[in-house]
Amino acid sequence: MKVLVTGGAGFIGSHVVDALRARGDEAVVLDDLSTGRRQNVPADVPLEVVDLRDPVAVAAVVARHRPDAISHQGAQTSVARSVREARLDAEVNLLGTLALLEAAVASGVRRFVLASTGGAIYGEVEEGRRARKDDPMRPISPYACSKLSAEAYVHAARLRGELDARVLRYANVYGPRQDPHGEAGVVAIFAQRLLAGAPISVNARRTRGDDGCVRDYVHVADVVRLNLVALDGALDADTAHACTGVGVTTRALADTLRALTGAAEPPGAGDPRPGDLERSVLEPELDERLRARVTLDDGLAETIDWFRRARG
Ligand code: NAD
Repeated sequence: MKVLVTGGAGFIGSHVVDALRARGDEAVVLDDLSTGRRQNVPADVPLEVVDLRDPVAVAAVVARHRPDAISHQGAQTSVARSVREARLDAEVNLLGTLALLEAAVASGVRRFVLASTGGAIYGEVEEGRRARKDDPMRPISPYACSKLSAEAYVHAARLRGELDARVLRYANVYGPRQDPHGEAGVVAIFAQRLLAGAPISVNARRTRGDDGCVRDYVHVADVVRLNLVALDGALDADTAHACTGVGVTTRALADTLRALTGAAEPPGAGDPRPGDLERSVLEPELDERLRARVTLDDGLAETIDWFRRARG
């Protein structure tokens, strides 16, 4: 199978590329390298440096490579940036997805898998609950709005019979290669800073000094496994969660990472961030094939090892 992976120079996309190649599939990457890195793409994988906001260029790439499937991971991924630049976020995440979808249909691509976010589109998830796929959607950030709108276009194309399209809603993904310099990806940010001996701080959930927001942290290997199931056409539902179902505070995460790195200094206290949800935990899939397998302790230990090696 030949798969076009958008965002394939980024964190999750590059792991999807690796997994496809490991089982003998062919991969092509479309990425504008805005947050992704050329060195994340293996030398023998074609890299098309194209902006999703350019529908003509996107269509040309799809027509030239004629993939069997598209794994759409490329996106503007920062919630904070989406609050500051909502229009740009919509141009990349909504119009970019639409351009790709139209190009896929025009070129006869059979399957389309959209990376969406369970961590943002449901809005606040009450204490003791996990967001279910049939819950009402209450996006509060422009990022969540653009992702949810993109989902609707993808489902509509499937319902019109134009192609087989599936949506994967990720919780908070972490693991090797995550960008530690961005505004998202607290595991990578903490890992990088702790290994450099730099201070970290816990952004407040409500008031400075509290334990911070609650998130469902899922390892990238589990997210990639779910992507492969969807790309193979083996996903029964039109939408699936990539999550663990376990809520973890930022402080608990910081404490585990401090223990793994031997950092003694306690974290500082930061303000709440605009657009951030207080609590987000997702309901895991019932199907065993789709459920996360990597425990947080194992996943964080592996991630710290990777960042340690990457520092040299
Ligand atoms: P990432 O920033 O590492 O990857 C995104 C990639 O998209 C980058 O390589 C970037 O260069 C590329 N890109 C950005 N704008 C582009 C544009 N205009 N044209 C072409 N390429 C562009 O982020 P990631 O964490 O790997 O995210 C992958 C996908 O997963 C995204 O769709 C994101 O919304 C989704 N997601 C991620 C998480 C998470 O916790 N990391 C959670 C939920 C959903």
